[in-house]
Amino acid sequence: RLPDINGSVEFLDVTFEYEPGRKAIEDIDFHAKPGQTIALVGHTGAGKSTVMNLLARFYDPTGGRILIDGTDIKTITSNSLRSQVGIVLQDTFIFSGTIMDNIRYGNPQASDEDVVAAATAVYADEFIRGLEDGYDTEVRERGSRLSMGQRQLLSFARAILADPRILILDEATASIDTYTEHLIQKGLQVLLSGRTAFVVAHRLSTIREADQILVFDQGHIVERGTHTEL
Ligand code: ATP
Ligand code: MG
Repeated sequence: RLPDINGSVEFLDVTFEYEPGRKAIEDIDFHAKPGQTIALVGHTGAGKSTVMNLLARFYDPTGGRILIDGTDIKTITSNSLRSQVGIVLQDTFIFSGTIMDNIRYGNPQASDEDVVAAATAVYADEFIRGLEDGYDTEVRERGSRLSMGQRQLLSFARAILADPRILILDEATASIDTYTEHLIQKGLQVLLSGRTAFVVAHRLSTIREADQILVFDQGHIVERGTHTEL
């Protein structure tokens, strides 16, 4: 493993254009302290995913700088960045194989016991044991046999196994049954704890518990604070 980082994340006047002359985000400024949960909210097209894309370094800013532990991410190797910044997207990547292997993808060195422990930690163990072959159940590409909520729980297990210091998470918006929703909420708490997390938040519970809420509108942060402040 690469040297551990604290997980401080700073955006300094960050601007980005996917197409020249059309700013997707402009002058984005914030500082996430190690361990904080930052909720990003705002209407569609407001710039939330763009901020996440830049932090994951899928693109480089057109203007401004992004620092992790005070270091410009442009100078961090992509391997190093990938091991420190984990991503959980709404549409979890699932490949043909067993549930066990799909979770292990988070950390290829993990033993079966590690995988089960990770799944148990984020409340995914119960549904997995309920499948016909448990952890050995074969899933197809795109996870057709799993519900959206189950896929999200699986992605939590995968993420906690990878154990990144910084986590980017796009909460699923699809309708999820009440029981799975409850498991996801509890699993999410475990997953977010002890890391710096950026959550494109749709759940009120996530927003309520965030250390900072950044409200985006048309590429700008228009409001910020805690749930009680806003
Ligand atoms: P949503 O809630 O719908 O996910 P968002 O807040 O994540 O929205 P972004 O995806 O960051 O919004 O979009 C910000 C702006 O950038 C929008 O004007 C959008 O049309 C534009 N945009 C996003 N992705 C691209 C892309 N790949 N190419 C060109 N423009 C893009
Ligand atoms: Mg988005």
